[in-house]
Amino acid sequence: MFEIGKIYNRRADIHGRYKGQQYGGIATPAAHPYVFIFTGDSGSEYGYIDSFDPNGTFKYTGEGQEGDMKMSKGNLAIHDHQKNNKEILLFEYTSRGFVRFLGTCNYVFHHIEERPDRNGYLREAIVFHLDIVNTQNIDAAQALTSEIVESPKAMYITKPSKGHSLQKLREIALSATPTQASTQEKIQSIQNRSVAIKFYAKRRANGICEGCNEIAPFKTKSGPYLEVHHLTRLADGGADLPQNVIALCPTCHRRAHYSLNYLEFNSQLINEVAAIEAKINE
Ligand SMILES: [Zn+2]
Repeated sequence: MFEIGKIYNRRADIHGRYKGQQYGGIATPAAHPYVFIFTGDSGSEYGYIDSFDPNGTFKYTGEGQEGDMKMSKGNLAIHDHQKNNKEILLFEYTSRGFVRFLGTCNYVFHHIEERPDRNGYLREAIVFHLDIVNTQNIDAAQALTSEIVESPKAMYITKPSKGHSLQKLREIALSATPTQASTQEKIQSIQNRSVAIKFYAKRRANGICEGCNEIAPFKTKSGPYLEVHHLTRLADGGADLPQNVIALCPTCHRRAHYSLNYLEFNSQLINEVAAIEAKINE
């Protein structure tokens, strides 16, 4: 249906096929089991800043441009998506009218915080915490699902440690969080995944920067110093997929964010990680 990372024309590819509200951040087509949500830079002028929380969830600001946000319409559609058997599909704006598909999300919890509305008045905003599901690795997810059934100590609740093997860290990072788990368990599971993927990248790099292939600049108590960079555009969070993370020396990391040709450099890094991952999976 939608391919992760691919760019779509919102009006033609989404509303042309599924209907739903053509404007605003949340579209709820009546005849299809989807809730489309859109994030992008244009929202930041109305106090909408969507980003990753330290707990690993993606924070998505609800709808309502003036006054306190209410848990109704699109916001309620996100809150109740599991009960209503609807899938949340997350897109980010890449340019006017065009959006990139980032993946399927599950509602975990929400909080209320004070944010300015479009008139600059402080109001109560609903901030959803969503879990972006790794639909890219269906095979891995299915393999893990059977493991969850068989194993009393399920992978999704396994705390990652630096001593774990590359394979074990990958399994934790890719583990699926059961939708029937408690909120507390879900948050723990998401946090485990985001820690696991960072350990994974460092272990895969094995003390050598995956950008420039130089040895890490210095050692720390816990090993060679490298920083984990996420290759997805959504700031420094991103899906917990092995092909989306790279362990870099500080210089390469800064280059990936601040250099004049950072876009070019990032696509170079994406190719390098793809090659490294292909070798591991041989
Ligand atoms: Zn480097």
